[in-house]
Amino acid sequence: CGIVGYVGRSVDGAVNGHSALDVVLEGLRRLEYRGYDSAGVAVVSDGVIESRKKSGKLSNLLSELEERPLPETLTGIGHTRWATHGGPTDRNAHPHLADGGKLAVIHNGIIENFAELKLELVEKGVTFLSETDTEVAAALLADIFRNQLGGDVANGGLTKAMELACQRLEGAFTLLAVHADQPDVVVAARRNSPLVVGLGEGENFLGSDVSGFIDYTRRAVELGQDQIVTITADTVEITDFFGNPAAGKEYHVDWDP
Ligand code: GLU
Repeated sequence: CGIVGYVGRSVDGAVNGHSALDVVLEGLRRLEYRGYDSAGVAVVSDGVIESRKKSGKLSNLLSELEERPLPETLTGIGHTRWATHGGPTDRNAHPHLADGGKLAVIHNGIIENFAELKLELVEKGVTFLSETDTEVAAALLADIFRNQLGGDVANGGLTKAMELACQRLEGAFTLLAVHADQPDVVVAARRNSPLVVGLGEGENFLGSDVSGFIDYTRRAVELGQDQIVTITADTVEITDFFGNPAAGKEYHVDWDP
């Protein structure tokens, strides 16, 4: 339902300015108006993804984070869920992990062909922990990244995997993915579901709408239909689902959400 992503820049390997978790939680608070039944976050450090997710209000997630804190990192994603496939349980909340816990995915919308993709992945030996369509997208992305691309981050990596995954996904989706082997990147895709980039100084943001990052920047880029965006702290690269470069339109958010 609501989506936030963040990448900041490190100074000598330490968090410079914002902690990803703080930015993501602030964004989720701003997106609460959309309504939701669960919330979750994932933070990425070198080689490791850690995630917390809870059904119910954001305050449930915050209590969970007090009991089981997450580290300060430069990269993170956050989600508020409005359940469509699978009830509003902790287990069905996003993020959904795959690739042995090294990949995390959040999703707004519905993957229409999730049942046939799930069957295909189950036949390959993938096991699923939730009833969501989202976990199927996560597993598909992981399968492509690991088995088709050989987990090669140098050769397109997560962005290339997202392209190939999107070529197979039907329906409406905004997808965000992070991978432990590419800790300074968030990759996102959209089809029939909104996604906006927020441009910062040495940091960049993603949101299902500008409320997700309005406390940090008012420079926004709206993505077009069937586009993929890869953000790092200093770069924003947009393509279509086939890797062809695409341009986004930058605008200034001069209203208060
Ligand atoms: N279809 C997904 C689910 O049920 C995402 C729902 C949403 O947009 O929050 O988990």
